[in-house]
Amino acid sequence: MPEPFATFSSVAALAAIAALGVTALRLRRARKKFNEEVSAWKLKLDLDLRQAKRERDQLLDALGDAFMLVDANSRVLFANKAARTLFRGRDLTGRTVQEAFLDQRLAAALMRCLDTGEPTVTRAVLPQQSSPLGDQERRGMNAWVIDAARLSDSPADDPTTRVVIRDVTSEYQTEQIRKDFVANASHELRTPLAIINGYLENLIDDDLLDDKELTRRFLKVMRKHTERISRIVEDMLVISRLESGEAAALKVKPFRIRSCVSDVLERLESVIHNQQATIKIDMPDLDFTFAGDRFYWTQVLFNLVENALKQNPRPGLTVTIGCSRNEEVTRIWVADDGVGIPSADLPHIFRRFYRVEKHHSQEEIKGTGLGLSIVKRAVEAHGGGIDVSSTPGQETRFTMEVPREAEARLLAEAEANALPELQKMTD
Ligand code: ATP
Ligand code: MG
Repeated sequence: MPEPFATFSSVAALAAIAALGVTALRLRRARKKFNEEVSAWKLKLDLDLRQAKRERDQLLDALGDAFMLVDANSRVLFANKAARTLFRGRDLTGRTVQEAFLDQRLAAALMRCLDTGEPTVTRAVLPQQSSPLGDQERRGMNAWVIDAARLSDSPADDPTTRVVIRDVTSEYQTEQIRKDFVANASHELRTPLAIINGYLENLIDDDLLDDKELTRRFLKVMRKHTERISRIVEDMLVISRLESGEAAALKVKPFRIRSCVSDVLERLESVIHNQQATIKIDMPDLDFTFAGDRFYWTQVLFNLVENALKQNPRPGLTVTIGCSRNEEVTRIWVADDGVGIPSADLPHIFRRFYRVEKHHSQEEIKGTGLGLSIVKRAVEAHGGGIDVSSTPGQETRFTMEVPREAEARLLAEAEANALPELQKMTD
């Protein structure tokens, strides 16, 4: 017969063991559930993080400027699409700044910001080969602004530095053109002014005014140079008016090209006669009308025909002036069979003050080098473009094309602007 107490204690023990088992099972289940939830959270967090990163990258890729994030060890953490393009598709992530930038001056500017934490804005003008990025296709100088600053004020929070690299080459080129223009214009004006001044000094200081004959000769020379100054100033004003892009710069009306050509030939009549040049007109319809500013088109044709005659003083030159039209464009051209323009000079001849010096004896041929610059701007102001081709000794041809749609638009604008004026007059 077992002891009642012994029986009780073994039952209790069994119950306790069973209870422990249940608790352990519950615990295991709870732990499994917990682990599953943690994994689900981790997965969600990971997905959210990836989504946020994708959105950030998309946003930064949409930036036109190159953008990079650099860590405290000067390693690139992130480079947006523009930066990748700038660095010619090289994988920048993980590289140091010194490795990424081919030009160490740019790297140094960036390193200063990384070392000191001070924001920095550096402008660098570099020849093509050493541009951050060594783009071989575009020649000349490239200008860059590197703007770097820490993301956070306290480096303990976040030592990441953001870097923006802006290509300011076109602004730099515009600035260069303006500087060149001022320098060239001053130079061109200084020469005739110095000559006039020299003659005046002679007349006054050497007391030559009593010599009527000499005074007359000196005054004539001075007048020639004053005319030259007036012409340069006039040309510069025309260029600046055309460049202003104001619609009011053009007075658009339909006019007959033939009458414009007649004016040009009349003005150049004595030169044509003296040089025994032949002028051919290649126009299917002599009543050919064109909507534009007659004043500028006369200037354009005058410059082109005058150039052909001026550059070829030897007798026997043939100059052809032509125009044609199809549904899309009106084409006007001037061609000659003279000395031509060397191919190396062709890309530059529309630049202000540019003159071909090598093959012509330019000291004898007068000019400032503004003519073609005006021609180009006048054609562009009409919504058109100009092209040149030259085979020295055979044919030099300037072809201007104005889309019919641009011609119609300018005419419609001019008529719309004229209406209120007419209204005013009848009121
Ligand atoms: P400007 O017209 O201001 O009096 P310019 O005639 O020298 O001076 P552009 O009309 O701009 O200046 O012409 C620039 C240069 O292009 C000329 O100096 C000349 O060297 C060259 N050129 C232009 N047209 C011809 C041509 N038909 N044949 C040969 N060279 C030309
Ligand atoms: Mg000229």
